Amino acid sequence: MLREFKILRRHGIQYIPDLRNAKVSDNLTGRPVIDKAITAEEADMVKKVCPAGAINASPFSIDMGKCLFCKECSFMLPNRIRFTNDYKLASNRRENLIIRAGEDKPVQFSHHSVRPEIRRLFRHALKLRQVSAGGDNSCEMELNAAGNVNFDMGRYGIEFVASPRHADGIVITGPVSENMAKALKMTYDAIPEPKIIILAGVDAIRGGMFKNSKAINREFLALHRADLYVPGNPVHPLTFINGVLDLIGVK
Ligand code: SF4
Repeated sequence: MLREFKILRRHGIQYIPDLRNAKVSDNLTGRPVIDKAITAEEADMVKKVCPAGAINASPFSIDMGKCLFCKECSFMLPNRIRFTNDYKLASNRRENLIIRAGEDKPVQFSHHSVRPEIRRLFRHALKLRQVSAGGDNSCEMELNAAGNVNFDMGRYGIEFVASPRHADGIVITGPVSENMAKALKMTYDAIPEPKIIILAGVDAIRGGMFKNSKAINREFLALHRADLYVPGNPVHPLTFINGVLDLIGVK
């Protein structure tokens, strides 16, 4: 018994007590901040190094729905572009993922545009089916971590389930490959109303590096509006959990 106590003491606290205000390392690559004094020449130069087409030069902005968080832009212009460790990046409006020069404020979440039935039905329990639609297993591993002993999103009743019949919504990762397009639709069809759609990671939001590939088929996403966009490459568990809590209306 004494031995077990010693082990527990050595391990310390295994979970994050407050997921809404968790302290994270300064090294976490989160929301970018752009100096409003960035010049047109600098903007053109840095736009060329962005591998994802996430930078708009005029007016200067970074689209987190496309950004790979590779930090190449920041390495090139460290005095103009920096990445904070703000992990609350998710929003229910696609346009809120665009960070403009001179802005340094949290990503906005449009609470009034959440479908009322989502908050009425799922505030205390939300079951999700995850579909990796051509994903590379990075976002999938982070989503898995969201349920582990550290992050423990299950404390809010949020869980992944093994069947779409038991799910309230779908979490899509990956750019949606042609091979997964039918399976994605079948999974979505099997979920009862009101079906939530969450796009996790830059590949799901915009296709990522694969957006021009002939091997992807994003017809499903053209037909259905997402309820939540979670940027990241991959998505951080805290980004995902905080986004879902905003969606279901948990303070
Ligand atoms: S961090 Fe984002 S915006 Fe900057 S170069 Fe990489 S993909 Fe482009």
